[in-house]
Amino acid sequence: MRLEGGCYCGNVRYVAEGEPMMKAQCHCRECQYITGGAPNVFIAMPVAGFSYTKGTPKQFTRTDLERPVTREFCPECGTHVTTGRSGFGGDRQGGHAR
Ligand SMILES: [Zn+2]
Ligand SMILES: [Zn+2]
Repeated sequence: MRLEGGCYCGNVRYVAEGEPMMKAQCHCRECQYITGGAPNVFIAMPVAGFSYTKGTPKQFTRTDLERPVTREFCPECGTHVTTGRSGFGGDRQGGHAR
């Protein structure tokens, strides 16, 4: 499977190749923040097959959580692109392919 996507303004583009490890809709508090209130729909792809083809996302990791995720988002338009968790094999969860 090959997914291509990017952010709202087109500054950040990515390609994710490999077999999806999980497709889910998550209602947890962190996902609510990420989406602005609604559930977060995501797909987990192997990190080995993921690369940015355009632009460099900004990263953010909360320091007050025991197992924080690292969010990556466009520094220009703010679109959330991926979420990575170190304890999750470094794999990334992407949002909808856009
Ligand atoms: Zn953007
Ligand atoms: Zn969640």
